[in-house]
Amino acid sequence: MSTLHAGYFSQGLEADPELERAIGGELARQRQGIELIASENIVSRLVLEAQGSVLTNKTVEGLPYGRYYGGAEFADAIEALAVERVTRLFGCAFANVQPHSGSNANAGVFLGLLKLGDTILSMDTAAGGHISHGHPATLTGRDYTIVRYGVCRESETIELAALRALALAHRPRLIVAGGSAYPAALDFAGMRAIADEVGALFMVDMAHFAGLVATGLYPHPFPHAHVVTSTSYKSLRGARGGFVLWNDPALSDRINYGIFPGVQGSVMMHAVAAKAACFGEALRPEFAAYNQAVLDNARMLAMSLSAAGLRLVGGGTDCGLMLVDLSTIGVTGDIAAKALEKAGLAVNKNLIPFDPRPPEAPSGLRLSSNAGTARGFGTAEFATIAGFIAAVVKAPDDAALIADVARQVRELCARFPIY
Ligand SMILES: *Cc1c(COP(=O)(O)O)cnc(C)c1O
Repeated sequence: MSTLHAGYFSQGLEADPELERAIGGELARQRQGIELIASENIVSRLVLEAQGSVLTNKTVEGLPYGRYYGGAEFADAIEALAVERVTRLFGCAFANVQPHSGSNANAGVFLGLLKLGDTILSMDTAAGGHISHGHPATLTGRDYTIVRYGVCRESETIELAALRALALAHRPRLIVAGGSAYPAALDFAGMRAIADEVGALFMVDMAHFAGLVATGLYPHPFPHAHVVTSTSYKSLRGARGGFVLWNDPALSDRINYGIFPGVQGSVMMHAVAAKAACFGEALRPEFAAYNQAVLDNARMLAMSLSAAGLRLVGGGTDCGLMLVDLSTIGVTGDIAAKALEKAGLAVNKNLIPFDPRPPEAPSGLRLSSNAGTARGFGTAEFATIAGFIAAVVKAPDDAALIADVARQVRELCARFPIY
């Protein structure tokens, strides 16, 4: 009997109908629904192909041209290409493209640059910070002393004076900027000045706005940041994974060893290949047009939701993502998100700053224009989408209305096909 089943090298998903059905279902869901989740996007066929390539068979450890395994000629070339492209894209000297995720990029940087117990000053999760910046439920929350800053109650934005007071009181080794639900632009120069004043390193996690940074549509973390971390699959519109950028050669070994062997083993070469593809696309002029459209669409969505009587945290958005406060209409984020899902609109419930409600049933919804823009929606479509959202969240129990919106969503999506 053969050691390999028939079709091992020739059949694809058709060899596993159960799995094929589920993946086919996901493709149909993406085709027929409107994706507004801020941590998602729609990648190109090129990125899909690189991510699904034979590079998944290759094991390498270490950095390009200094691997612990042989046969690395093409893996080296691919990773070096990804590094060259991403440093060109963000105008910096060094990059590590190996982090399996944004959280791993952050954990690796912390491990490389900090000692156990060092103090990190980062944004409170309840105010829009990311869990990987020291949430007590994570390893980073256990290994370091975490001090959190939030936002000002009135402006719902970060107040540098309050941040400085915390920095002076706690003398952190690292100050972290960036979050996953913060719609306003960040003041990197102001935060770096505070870091310098207390002798801290300054890290920017640009996961949500990396695409805008790459195209000059958001403040650039460099030259202010000592180190920048990011994901490649949100606004950068690429493969799943993370990366780290920096300029000071004195940090190189510490960051690289922090990633490997610090928090990871061998490289996911297929993901690195897909990152190289994504960075290549991001260097094209069309990517600047895409990001301009992300911003135009987000502003239209925010404006139209406001006009429909919904309150936006911080008054709007500087970065493509926004938070809607539903407390003014007496609906919770979980109920609204479920009703929107029934109508074919994917969003996530989210805490708003100073939310009196628990994370499971918070006051807010988080929305983004990233994925919709990738499939070709413009401002007219986003105005229409705002109308869908406003109608559904104001009447989350109205089955007839939800069915009617669902039909319109399918029609709209059919006009903007993907794959
Ligand atoms: C999404 C996100 C991450 C984490 O990414 P994973 O790939 O899910 O680990 C890290 N930082 C910020 C600010 C994010 O928004």
